[in-house]
Amino acid sequence: MDLFKKCRGFLSDPAVARAMGYPMSPTQARANGLYPFFIPLDQTEGTEVTIGGRRLIMIGSNNYLGLTTDPRVRAAAAAALEAYGPSCTGSRFLNGTLALHNELEERLAAFVGKEAALVFSTGYQTNLGTLSALVGRGDLIIGDKENHASLVDGARLALGKLLRFRHSDMADLESLLRSLPETAGRLVVVDGVFSMSGELAPLPEIVALCKAHGARLMVDDAHGMGTVGAGRGTAAHYGLTEDVDLIMATFSKSFASIGGFIAGEAAAIHWIQHTARSLIFSASLPAPNVAAALASLDIMEREPERVDRVNAVAQRMRTDLRALGFDVGRGETPIVPIVIGDQLKTMCLWKGLFDAGVYTNVAMPPAVPPGGALLRTSYMATHTDAQMDRVLGIFERVGKAEGVL
Ligand code: PMP
Repeated sequence: MDLFKKCRGFLSDPAVARAMGYPMSPTQARANGLYPFFIPLDQTEGTEVTIGGRRLIMIGSNNYLGLTTDPRVRAAAAAALEAYGPSCTGSRFLNGTLALHNELEERLAAFVGKEAALVFSTGYQTNLGTLSALVGRGDLIIGDKENHASLVDGARLALGKLLRFRHSDMADLESLLRSLPETAGRLVVVDGVFSMSGELAPLPEIVALCKAHGARLMVDDAHGMGTVGAGRGTAAHYGLTEDVDLIMATFSKSFASIGGFIAGEAAAIHWIQHTARSLIFSASLPAPNVAAALASLDIMEREPERVDRVNAVAQRMRTDLRALGFDVGRGETPIVPIVIGDQLKTMCLWKGLFDAGVYTNVAMPPAVPPGGALLRTSYMATHTDAQMDRVLGIFERVGKAEGVL
């Protein structure tokens, strides 16, 4: 059996693509101008990008605070490149720790209100490393069904078992926790802000259940850090910083960089530091990215109005898109999904918007369940009112033309 047979089938055989949860093969999608992935941007200025010589308004980025274009962030990254070069050429464990990494960790721990923090090279690696380091044989991870893929993959890597409860269903979580042996170490894991729907996790109820059943709680706040709780994340939003044992976030969104961190009790962070294989066996975060994250953190601390602005932008878009007749779900954060249901209609709406000058993201399997699709829009503190007016006008026109409205 040739291992590559499926690859050729996926390219051109619609049946193979359908079995993988897509409505058509990538070749068919490309031929019809309906292929929404891996589109190269020629230029990006944050809220606007240039693609193939055309300018589009970007409402598909996780640059929530608009800091990728902030001159202070860019200058910090450039200075660090000059001072330390583009790579640490080694793991945090050995030659790859700079004083700058330690400074960022101390600042992050203070920012989220925890004893200690540990910086990884990506958020994905943070989740892989944290879960596999903490959850040993016989231990259990209890995760929401809509958790980010990196939490699922971290659980796969861990020697303990993953059990999943229905999305934000507290009765399901409770019955699961009730059924588990107290002798097993138990870690409940949820996204603070769910990455596709923009919904907040019901942390007060989750904390109460964890306490009642002696389980630890980890929150992945990739999308909550910088956008809720005055920028300090979902635990802060609910006033539950003390009660969430581990807070994780990434630098690839509000922090305008790349990298990730886990924060919590010093002993737990020290354990992860010495046992997380994705930290130990991978090169550390380059200095320009550390410096960009530090500069973004400075701005988040000093300019909380940016958090208010991104939420105001998203709230206006959510309200006005809903008024036009779009189903925008139940979220309340800078992520605003547009739920169409039908995959082909979703792709046609995406293409219509793209051709008219609006960049959105199509979420298809594996980001959503097989057969599903939605448009994921997300907003920035730097979007202007004029840009929002234009985007809404285009949504109305294209939504009608595509028969979605
Ligand atoms: N967790 C969540 C909820 C995410 O959305 C993402 C990124 N999409 C990650 C973790 C991984 O972060 P990174 O991009 O830093 O690898």
